[in-house]
Order: sequence, then C-alpha cells, then structure tokens
Amino acid sequence: MEPDKPTIEGMVHTDTATRKKFSKDASSYRIQPQMVAAPANENDVVRILEFARKSGTSITCRSGGSGLSGAGIGPGIIVDFKPLMNRIKQLDPEIIAEPGVVLEDFLKQIHKKGLMLPAIPSSSSWCALGGNIGTRATGPRTARYGTIDAFVTSLKFITARGDIVDTRKKLPDTLEKGLMRIREKYLSDEKSRRLFENRPPIAGGYNVPAFSRYKDPGEIAAHLMVGSIGTLGVITEIRLSPIPIRMPQMTYAAFFPTLEKIGDALNRINELHPAAVEYIDNNTLARIQGKLLNNRHKDIAGALLVEFDESEEQAKKGEKILVESNPDELIPVPVNSPEETRIWEERRLILPRLRAFARKKGWIVPSIIDDVAIHAKDFVPVVRDLNQLMRRLQHDICIFGHIGFGSLHARPMFDPRKKEITDQIDTVSRQTFQILHRYGGTLVGEHNSGRSRSIYLEMELGDRFTYLREIKDLFDPEDILNPDTLFDTAPITENMNLDG
Ligand SMILES: Cc1cc2nc3c(=O)[nH]c(=O)nc-3n(C[C@H](O)[C@H](O)[C@H](O)COP(=O)(O)OP(=O)(O)OC[C@H]3O[C@@H](n4cnc5c(N)ncnc54)[C@H](O)[C@@H]3O)c2cc1C
Repeated sequence: MEPDKPTIEGMVHTDTATRKKFSKDASSYRIQPQMVAAPANENDVVRILEFARKSGTSITCRSGGSGLSGAGIGPGIIVDFKPLMNRIKQLDPEIIAEPGVVLEDFLKQIHKKGLMLPAIPSSSSWCALGGNIGTRATGPRTARYGTIDAFVTSLKFITARGDIVDTRKKLPDTLEKGLMRIREKYLSDEKSRRLFENRPPIAGGYNVPAFSRYKDPGEIAAHLMVGSIGTLGVITEIRLSPIPIRMPQMTYAAFFPTLEKIGDALNRINELHPAAVEYIDNNTLARIQGKLLNNRHKDIAGALLVEFDESEEQAKKGEKILVESNPDELIPVPVNSPEETRIWEERRLILPRLRAFARKKGWIVPSIIDDVAIHAKDFVPVVRDLNQLMRRLQHDICIFGHIGFGSLHARPMFDPRKKEITDQIDTVSRQTFQILHRYGGTLVGEHNSGRSRSIYLEMELGDRFTYLREIKDLFDPEDILNPDTLFDTAPITENMNLDG
C-alpha cells in the first residue's frame, strides 16, 4: 500500500532508490528517511510541516547535502530544496534568494553586480544557501570578513507550528514574547554571557550572543536561525547584503621547520587582519602531493597560506613578518597568476584528496574531530597536544584549516577492519574534547553541531546548555525539526558508516 504523504505542488518520493540516495550526505552517517519531499514554494513547506505534525514524522532540511556533522540526514521526511526552490528572486536593491540556490551560481550572479560574499566553503560547487545559513558557513576569508551571519539581513522561515515568519515584520506573539523573556534573563546573567561571548569566534551551537547583539526580536530570530542546523525552523527565503568586490593583493605560501615558528608568524600576521590564513600540516602536505602544496621539505612542521587584500603596503608588511619568521621556503604568489588559481584549488581539494588517499589504504577518515574551533593564540599547544594524543593512540592524523579564525580540521585515519574501531573513534573524540576544553576550545566549530559532536556541546557548556534547550522549546516544542541532532544525541558511532 502507498504510504501516506503530504499533498503538495512539488514532488514527494517514497521509492527505495530515492530514500537510499538521501540516506547519506557528506558526513559519515547513514539513516534511511521515510520519504523525500521537494517543495515548490512556501505553501508546500507549510503543508509538509502540517503533515509531519499530524503524523508525528520528523523533518530534516536538505539544501546541498555537503554537511559534515550528520545533521542533513534523518529518519522522517527530508525536505529537499535544490530541485524546485532554487531561484534568485531579486538582485537589486536587496538580494533575495531561495534556499536551494547553489552557492557557486549565486556568487557568479552577484559578481556581475560587483559584489562578493566572502564566506565561501570549499564545497561551493554543490552546497546551497539554505545549508550555508543552516550551518553558518565560513571560508578562508572569514578571517577578515566573518561568517555568513555577517551578511544576513533577514530571513523568512516556517515554524514547526506552521507559522510563516518574516523576521522584518512583527513575529508571532508567542515567539516574540519568548525571545524577549530569554533575552532579559541572558542580559542579567553575567556568568553565562561571559561564557558564550568568550567562546572561540566560530564556536557552534545556537547563536546565543545574538540576544545581546540585537534588540529587535526579528533580528534576534534571524540570527538564531543562522547555524541552527534546521532544528528551529525551515528557511524559505534568504536576504543578504554582500559587499563590494575586493581583489587580493598577494598570497604567500610559507613552509616552516617548527610548530613554534608557525605560531609566532600566525600571531604577528593576524595583527595585520589578512583576508585569509590557512594552516596545512606536514602530514597533509605529504598526503595531498599538490604541485605547490606538497612535502618537498621533508622535516618541516607545516605551511601557512596567507592572503592579503587591503593594500600593497599591508602585503609588504606581511611578507616582512613571514621572512622574519625564518621559513624554509617562502613562495610569493602574485594575484591573477596561474599559481594563485592552482594554490587555492589545491587547498580546496585537501579533503577529497585525503579521502582518496585513505580509500587506497582501505582506511576511513570519519568526520569526528574535523571541526575544532580554538582561539588562534592557542594554536601551538592545541596542535602539539593533538599530535601527541594521536601518537599515543597510534593513529595517522592530518591537521589543516582556516587557522586565521581558529578553525582546524583534524582528520585521524582508522582501519575499519579492526574490530575495536567504534571504541577507537569514541576514545579519539572524547580525548580530543578534553584537550580542547583545557584551552577553552570546542569540537563544534565551522560545520556546526550534529550527530558527530553535539554530545560534547552539553559537556562544554555545562548548566548554560539550558539556554539552548529553552530556545529549542520556544521554536519547536514538539521536537519535529531535525530531532536527535542537537539534543539527546546518540553515541557518536551510532548510524556511522564504517565501511569506508
Ligand atoms: C569538501 C568539503 C569542504 C567543506 N569546506 C567547508 C568550509 O570551508 N567552510 C564551511 O563552513 N563548511 C565547509 N564544508 C561543510 C559544508 O559544505 C557546509 O557546512 C555548507 O554550508 C553546507 O551547505 P549545504 O547546502 O550542503 O547544507 P546541507 O548539508 O544540505 O545542510 C546542512 C544543515 O543545514 C540545514 N538546512 C539546509 N537547508 C535548510 C533550510 N532551508 N532551512 C533550515 N535548515 C536547513 C540542514 O538540515 C543541515 O542541518 C565542507 C564540506 C565538504 C564536503
């Protein structure tokens, strides 16, 4: 018998092939959904939510499916925005787009208007705006320009109750009153403010500091939606204010003999507010073997890739700092040169190349501690402690990331043929959490929360985790939206694909 399904203008799929396809995203998790619905418009989303409420089915939003934390898959209805809700509705005077617009297509359109959105994940050819907002996307240039949150002016979203909310207009009463109540409590709770506002700049979980940053309930709601991994509402319209294009002046690749030298250079370079600072450790360089990014210097600790875009003078100052930091090699990469395209392409391809390397060995590189956020000043001790931990646990590890704003992707490799693999994965993530906790860092960074790390959010925040619960209860009291991805998550190895 045909299963019950929502009646919408768009498409609803219940066939095995589609359900299997949507049982995975770019994360290490696999969960088969009951159905996949592709809404054609806002009213379709309202109908899908009504069906979900009546039938007790959960909703998981999906835009590009490039998420790495296991928050883009779920057992109920996958709401897939890419096929039909993928229009850029307006470019002037304000940019208005639907969640299914592929980021790269969006960037091309706004470039024609002389504008840029600097928060560009390496997955830009397949991720889409809904997921970019859902995770609060970053890119190398977040170092200078911030995450996508800095460019969101307002949103439209559908609540779990089915209300259509435009954050520029008056919010539904319950939502507005609830937000103001939480705000009042937060503003008078010094201890919690200190904790939330001193986390690393890209620490994930709900954007609680929005309560002190904004007064207007609509603005608070919009910025809480950013990074909420589809657990607070379903975004149907995104309004952004990109900035005028700023061309890079110069990129440098500097290869350093020790971690300490990298740390010194990083601290001094960050004072110049470069557009981007990327770290790539020696193990990663050895695995990816790019033409420019490789391990031709055998005994180095790693490389920094630094881009300046303010002025020639800024680039010159940066070059001087890099030279004074005594690298083994410093490669200046001029703007608009083939080397510039190549070096950033090699940076973008690190993850696919590491995955290909692991596959050849029969290993896996699950997304477990790939989303570390720290204060950049703690770079040296954190990387040193992580490397020591992996040596002790005997795991090959590659560490790279947007260190300019404290983001590190740590990718230990595992042999799935070993019986005790789930224990190993659990040990690695638990002990990494302990290291990060010592330095005020977090396992929930740029790719935000989800099945692989939300469990540590509660440990990190302690009693303050109740703020997150209050926000969730206000927006989605029946827990229809993406359950088990932020609260009450299962052990991180549950539903993890360990076959490679
Ligand atoms: C090779 C590679 C490189 C990457 N590099 C980066 C990087 O540099 N920076 C970075 O930030 N990330 C990076 N990522 C992670 C990922 O690409 C980003 O998190 C991206 O923003 C996710 O967008 P998406 O459209 O693919 O989202 P999806 O995977 O579809 O969804 C992500 C989350 O957003 C929610 N969501 C999606 N649509 C909506 C909606 N309409 N309403 C509400 N919630 C919604 C989903 O439920 C899910 O929880 C990388 C991933 C890969 C595979």
